[in-house]
Amino acid sequence: MSAPTLERCPVCRARLGPDEANCPRCESDLSLLRATYAAAAHHQGLARRHLAEARCDEAVREALRAMRLVNQPSTQSTLLAALCIRRHET
Ligand SMILES: [Zn+2]
Repeated sequence: MSAPTLERCPVCRARLGPDEANCPRCESDLSLLRATYAAAAHHQGLARRHLAEARCDEAVREALRAMRLVNQPSTQSTLLAALCIRRHET
C-alpha cells in the first residue's frame, strides 16, 4: 500500500514531479492539493499503525479520513484492509 500521490495536474493533466508547488505546464497553484494529499498520507499512516497494533476500529476511522481526502487506490486499499480485518474479528 503506497501513499496517495498527486501524479497529474487537475487543470491540464500534466504529469507532476513529487515536489512542484506549481504545475510546470499551466502554473496552477498546487499547494492546497499537496497539503490535502499530505493529510491523507498522515491518516493512512495512522491507519496502518493501528492495523499493526490490531486496533481495527481506529484503523477504519483513520482509513476513512484518508479516503475522504484522497479517493484513489492506495487509500481505498487501506480502508479495505482495515474493514476486512475488523470483519474477521467480530
Ligand atoms: Zn497544469
